[in-house]
Amino acid sequence: KDRDLHTAIQPEDKLLSGLLSAKHGVGSCLSRYNSVSYQHKLAFEPSSYLIAKLRRYEDLHKHCGVYTESYNKTLEWLRSNGSSSSSDCRYLIWISFSGLGNRILTLASAFLYSLLTNRVLLVDPGTDMTDLFCEPFPDVSWFLPQDFPFKEEFSNFNQTSPDCYGKIMKNSMRTDSSGVILPSVVYLHLVHDYDDDDKLFFCDQDQALLQQSPWLVMKTDNYFVPSLFLMSSFEKELNDLFPNKDTVFHLLGRYLFHPTNSVWGLITRYYQAYLARASERIGIQIRVFDTGTGPFQHILDQVLTCTLKENLLPQTDRQTNIIGSVSNPKSKTVLITSLSAGYMEKLRDIYWENPTVTGERISFYQPSHEEHQQTEKSIHNQKALAEMYLLSTTDVLVTSSWSTFGYVAQGLGGLKPWILYKPENRTAPDPPCGQAMSMEPCFHAPPFYDCKAKKGVDTGKLVPHVKHCEDMPWGIKLV
Ligand code: GDP
Repeated sequence: KDRDLHTAIQPEDKLLSGLLSAKHGVGSCLSRYNSVSYQHKLAFEPSSYLIAKLRRYEDLHKHCGVYTESYNKTLEWLRSNGSSSSSDCRYLIWISFSGLGNRILTLASAFLYSLLTNRVLLVDPGTDMTDLFCEPFPDVSWFLPQDFPFKEEFSNFNQTSPDCYGKIMKNSMRTDSSGVILPSVVYLHLVHDYDDDDKLFFCDQDQALLQQSPWLVMKTDNYFVPSLFLMSSFEKELNDLFPNKDTVFHLLGRYLFHPTNSVWGLITRYYQAYLARASERIGIQIRVFDTGTGPFQHILDQVLTCTLKENLLPQTDRQTNIIGSVSNPKSKTVLITSLSAGYMEKLRDIYWENPTVTGERISFYQPSHEEHQQTEKSIHNQKALAEMYLLSTTDVLVTSSWSTFGYVAQGLGGLKPWILYKPENRTAPDPPCGQAMSMEPCFHAPPFYDCKAKKGVDTGKLVPHVKHCEDMPWGIKLV
């Protein structure tokens, strides 16, 4: 694919077929209108309904966002415990929680939920969200301000808080949700350890109840979008928004997540120095959930078997070792991301020490090797975001099972990756990998509950567009 970085870009391309608003200034966020020079074209066009919905949302955000008259009014109303008059605005606060890949997926989920319920999304900046992402909505910030009066209170919410939705339902003995009166601020605990009462969030009757509360505060580490597609209250709207159901994260991700100028510098300098000139780019994301420090031989074997078997990389000729037996002008560049440097070094050595049977030149690059996860450190997370983004620009992607880091790369890129199946007992599985059914992320901890029948049900078998994931059999994903 020829992607000349200097080609003049048509203004309509910059807005990704109308997905992005034209109202932003340019200098404050270079990535917003320049990503089109690095990213693949959108895998599917956004529906006109989605575009209209996003413009309406931006208007709502401008009307209700921080420091607007309506926002001040609802804060006043909260302070006075409901005795002053409220505004017509309702809010969803997203709590910054978990690794960066998880956060990107949950923020997209929270935004979709806000769109569906006409709430204004406010983002807890945590330690580093403002260093990582530009403002996605014109004119008014999406970040909760430093002086937000209930910050402390909201960030201390947990599963046992009296205002936790699951706890409220537990106390009401789940008799009849229609009789329950909710407080004005409700905490939604959607973290992987949530219980059956917290999971009532995914029932239509509970959604009707939650409309009562002007403020919802959500903490989650899961991409819960697939379960929204199983609820009848959102069915029509989701159908209109996403005629292609497996494009939710792809489109919302491209709409929401624009790296800040410093992260954009990391991305563009790396891309131009190492990736721009290759005939083909291959991304390999190696995420090892085993304890102990790698590199592990079984992981290296698995990566090699997968890439050779699926013809992503050429075989090497280890017998004859003749130089230049076949001449081929093609060059493949492999971008590896991993916390450890060892995999890249070993793969690079194999292709240095032996010629390829096709004569192709294969080069390997890895931007960083941070050794271990450092969730609270800003430059570490800036590099992590840059690497997810760089992976998303590749032509062919190989990802690791269970990793939200990989899901973000595939989703932004609109790619169906080859997934390295999870090794068991330090042994590579056979087959080593398989291609994903769709570019959508997997919901790792979905509910298995039929709200109407009030009994368990396999939510991966109810509709054709929500299936069990390739890499986690109990998870569900849109296909
Ligand atoms: P997951 O744990 O794979 O689902 O992904 P998360 O992004 O939620 O959490 C893993 C975190 O570990 C990342 O956010 C990074 O901080 C770090 N990390 C894991 N793999 C890599 C990598 O290949 N490169 C970099 N720079 N950081 C990584």
